[in-house]
Amino acid sequence: MHVGLRVRRFCILSPVKSGVGHHKNPGESIMVETQLLQGSCHCGAVRLTLPSAPEQATKCNCSLCRRLGGLWAYYEFGTVRIEGHPENTAEYIWGDKTLRTIRCKTCGCATHCALLVAEAGGRHGVNLNNFDPRLHESVRVRRFDGADTWTFLD
Ligand SMILES: [Zn+2]
Repeated sequence: MHVGLRVRRFCILSPVKSGVGHHKNPGESIMVETQLLQGSCHCGAVRLTLPSAPEQATKCNCSLCRRLGGLWAYYEFGTVRIEGHPENTAEYIWGDKTLRTIRCKTCGCATHCALLVAEAGGRHGVNLNNFDPRLHESVRVRRFDGADTWTFLD
């Protein structure tokens, strides 16, 4: 098998999970301090505000994610408030060139990723590592095998 064929798609926006943004029991919404929904890169030049607490995040082992160490949560395109972008950011595009991974130009922290061409129902990936670790406590982390089988490992 040609190794290159495996890099056809970009992992972090691909696997669609069911129930994104919905709680199983509507009365059981997760209470999170507003402050925890605000994150930033290390130097603070790029700031992100989530519309709601993430329930699930993806840790992927593809060639890019394993280097970035990203912990990705997904939101509908346009719902995440992003300040300092694009003026303080740089981007990286690889593989089939459908996605840009965005980082702070100053401190280098990967903050989010987005489709190159916006499409209906498109999503943002947000790197939760830029947020208070207390936000992670209620998040179910799923390991995704983006390097090989393209499936979740749990
Ligand atoms: Zn920074």
